[in-house]
Amino acid sequence: MNESKKFVVDWQALERLFVRPENEASQQVLLKYMEQILFGLQDFLHSHLGITENICMDRLSMDFMESKINADPSASLSQVIEDIINQIAPRAVNVSSPYFIGHMTSAIPFFMVHLAAITAAMNQNVIKTETSKILSVLENQVIAKMHRLIFNESDDFYETHVQNAETCLGTFTSGGTTANMTALWVARNRLLHPIGDFSGVEQDGMLQAMKAHDLERIVVLVSRRGHYSLKKACGLLGLGYNNLVCVDEGEDRCVDVDKMEETIGQLLADKKTKIMALVGVAGATETGTVDDLSKLAELAHTHGIHFHVDAAWGGPVLFSEKYARFLAGIEQADSVTIDCHKQLYMPMSAGMIYFRDPNALNFVQYHARYVNRETSVDLGSKTLEGSRQAHSLILDSALKIMGARGYGLMIDHGIDLARVFAQKISDHPFFQLITEPCLNILTYRAVPPELRKILDNNPADSPVFEQANARIDEINTALQRIQREAGKSFVSRTQIALNPGDSREVVVLRVVLMNPFTTPEILDEILEEQVQIISAHLS
Ligand SMILES: *Cc1c(COP(=O)(O)O)cnc(C)c1O
Repeated sequence: MNESKKFVVDWQALERLFVRPENEASQQVLLKYMEQILFGLQDFLHSHLGITENICMDRLSMDFMESKINADPSASLSQVIEDIINQIAPRAVNVSSPYFIGHMTSAIPFFMVHLAAITAAMNQNVIKTETSKILSVLENQVIAKMHRLIFNESDDFYETHVQNAETCLGTFTSGGTTANMTALWVARNRLLHPIGDFSGVEQDGMLQAMKAHDLERIVVLVSRRGHYSLKKACGLLGLGYNNLVCVDEGEDRCVDVDKMEETIGQLLADKKTKIMALVGVAGATETGTVDDLSKLAELAHTHGIHFHVDAAWGGPVLFSEKYARFLAGIEQADSVTIDCHKQLYMPMSAGMIYFRDPNALNFVQYHARYVNRETSVDLGSKTLEGSRQAHSLILDSALKIMGARGYGLMIDHGIDLARVFAQKISDHPFFQLITEPCLNILTYRAVPPELRKILDNNPADSPVFEQANARIDEINTALQRIQREAGKSFVSRTQIALNPGDSREVVVLRVVLMNPFTTPEILDEILEEQVQIISAHLS
């Protein structure tokens, strides 16, 4: 009775919540936890190497069935934080573990937590200068710095555009998905421009646009490795996602440029079809491969097509002195997506979209009377998102703390380690490398020696070969699940053609190497665990 009375809400209590944490005693508790979170987080995460506690989702969800909101408060802030640290954190996924090598989310430098806390505390809204002031100009500056890394225009160019209210070099977004959407949004509005009585697709809609431009079909081209956010964008922009045309990959798993050229020719033979954009992938989500950006740029520009590079994953490779050459040609893109929460090691979630043409974002400009007025320098008039936080503060600080070279070293570590791992897999009698790492992502699968013999001694179209592959699929699916549930290490799973061009896809294990603490010895342990799982459960 007394306990619950303590938490009855009143105006005074609410006022305190806005100003300072509760009473002196609980402030001490809070400080202890904040210290643990802000300064001890790395220790905490690295001391428990396990990925996650071994509880299944069904069991967990049973504790989360209540759906009524409590009328009165039921806990103090310090209790809530204590619960998060003791009850939630151990059952979340320890993405910081160097044994967690399955996804594009990993450890972040400890200072990111401080910067995120500061950003939240300042609570600036960069939609308009009236709620952000200096953070609007800081954003312009850091966007110009990244633009320069990608496009390397002249000093004059940056002097003209860095703080120019009429032009815009790019913007932060909520992630790679919305960055890709923004790029295709601009491409669509540029393609379906005003003509005669038609005021433009943004104003009059797709139906009128197709009539005015005398078109029946609009498509976007990408390789089979394109991210599914491009599909979402085509759906959302009114093209229909069946009009995202996926072109086959070549021997190197990058898009086959000859096939791309052929496809363009076939599509444009129909005078009522237009190609809205050609997308090059720089760091494919499943394989890490990078398309030949120079050749794609040439192809796109020959036909007057918007060339977008999806470098959500691979963009930061530009920081590497050793490997930036993989992205050659990116400077010829019309637009480039880069994610902040991937290889820029920023906390969830932020992305960026860049345009070579500083006027490109004018194609998606919106105004409102109370914000983003026609004459304002507000950053919100050319973004898909409305209100948004000052991600620039985090990126700008991180660039100061790490320098381009610091980021470059992280990239080098991941790519070098992926090559070491690929060699280990190739040398191991139990495993088969499926895609060589171009960047720091590779795929492989476990093939027990008796099944390997069948694959080696039978033609790929024979029924025994297919049976063996079906069994290997089952083994790898179960292997990935058992290893994940055991909670010590984690690789992910996807499906990919054994050889480029095969229609049959096989189950593969996927590895993303971005944690600076992942070592060759840890990779040995992960393979060893997989061998043991197969001997114990799957032979
Ligand atoms: C991750 C990724 C995306 C989507 O980014 P989100 O931040 O998850 O929205 C798009 N393209 C590629 C190549 C990616 O790797």
